[in-house]
Amino acid sequence: MSIVADNISINAIKESRLPGVDFSKLPFGKIFSDHMFSAEFYNGQWHDVKIVPYEKILVSPSISAIHYGQAIFEGMKAYIQPDGRVGLFRGLENFKRLNISAERMCMPPVPEEIFMGGLRALLNMDRKWAPNDLTGSLYIRPFYFATDETLGVKSSESYRFMIFTCPVGPYFTEPLRCYAETTYARSFEGGPGYAKAAGNYGASFFPLKQAQAKGYHQIIWLDSKEHKYVEESGAMNLMAVIDNVLVTPKLSSSKLAGITRDSVLHIAKHMGIRVEERDLSITEIVEAASKGKVSEMFGCGTAAQIAPIIQLGYNGKDYHLPERNDSLLSYKIGKYLSDVKYGLEKDLWNWMEII
Ligand SMILES: *Cc1c(COP(=O)(O)O)cnc(C)c1O
Repeated sequence: MSIVADNISINAIKESRLPGVDFSKLPFGKIFSDHMFSAEFYNGQWHDVKIVPYEKILVSPSISAIHYGQAIFEGMKAYIQPDGRVGLFRGLENFKRLNISAERMCMPPVPEEIFMGGLRALLNMDRKWAPNDLTGSLYIRPFYFATDETLGVKSSESYRFMIFTCPVGPYFTEPLRCYAETTYARSFEGGPGYAKAAGNYGASFFPLKQAQAKGYHQIIWLDSKEHKYVEESGAMNLMAVIDNVLVTPKLSSSKLAGITRDSVLHIAKHMGIRVEERDLSITEIVEAASKGKVSEMFGCGTAAQIAPIIQLGYNGKDYHLPERNDSLLSYKIGKYLSDVKYGLEKDLWNWMEII
């Protein structure tokens, strides 16, 4: 393996917390595996590359991540394989995307030896935390934040990169009711919407809370200029099946390039489904839905995988979409994707790395 990965200092936990975990009830992101990975960047170099027990970290109240939001993250998953080993899904894509986010947030790139070397070592130590069933997985949270102790409004010179993992079950337990938001926007052309930047999410909670007060689960974000074109749903990419064509908004600087989105498009094309990546207006969707031509809408992302949408609220009206059933394209694509992840389907695109 790499130089850095061989030089990770390891302080293993004395007694695993694993026996105390109830795998039949896993809340999302609240149970943390035994260890975490950490590396620090200062004086232009990486230092203190280590794996230690998962624990609170000490930071100064003046670190610029807290004040100015120079902080980014990733979300990825590992899945139990038929032979009991653990398979990481498209990990290199998350590594590359972290550095796309880092560039936008003016942070130095994280070297591959640190990200992938640290991740592999951490997964090796905590592989037993991956749920042993076909609905659970080990969610992986890499994150990277500015640690200069100064209130100067400028890019930091020191940073910390960390990874921890959480055993998780299904993210959503029911099909979603979504609200197309016409006042607020998640993102805008020229902004950091294509980056997994911490502040993007903090800014989405207020509109989300209002949508939830109206009885919806999630927001469908529209473009910030005209509130006309659909962008994403919550922190997922959005897809619709209109007249049997799988349509999804084409990527732009205001959208996050989801790895699930890309995987769904690969699988759909492989299945011979017609796919269109293009501008998709909310009026096109509701007009087609009124004529019964929208057979499916769904969100896709690492946490939820495929999240079917059964209701769409727009401009005071609600549009209802068919209930989830085995003949829907999203069901078939989702099943295929899930089977690849759990090692039950041929890995045509080399997406899995067995740890
Ligand atoms: C992470 C994320 C997605 C989904 O990306 P995946 O790589 O599929 O997990 C979509 N939209 C936003 C805003 C996100 O943060």
